[in-house]
Amino acid sequence: TYVVTDNCIACKYTDCVEVCPVDCFYEGENMLVIHPDECIDCGVCEPECPADAIRPDTEPDMEEWVAFNRKYSEMWPVI
Ligand code: SF4
Repeated sequence: TYVVTDNCIACKYTDCVEVCPVDCFYEGENMLVIHPDECIDCGVCEPECPADAIRPDTEPDMEEWVAFNRKYSEMWPVI
């Protein structure tokens, strides 16, 4: 899965949302998040992010970000 990280805070460009084929972006309190179970790992959103905030969970130490994205994507409405 891909996850949104802290570079997104107060950014909220929605270029990523526009390209996601499965609409798995959600709006968190001050940043966007990706639902880890809905993301199909296509990678299309990553180069679209002007803040370089979208990272694959295969990078080191991403467990907390996966949990964070899951928590907020289940808490807030679809944008
Ligand atoms: Fe959506 Fe693909 Fe990005 Fe996952 S990797 S959030 S499916 S655009």
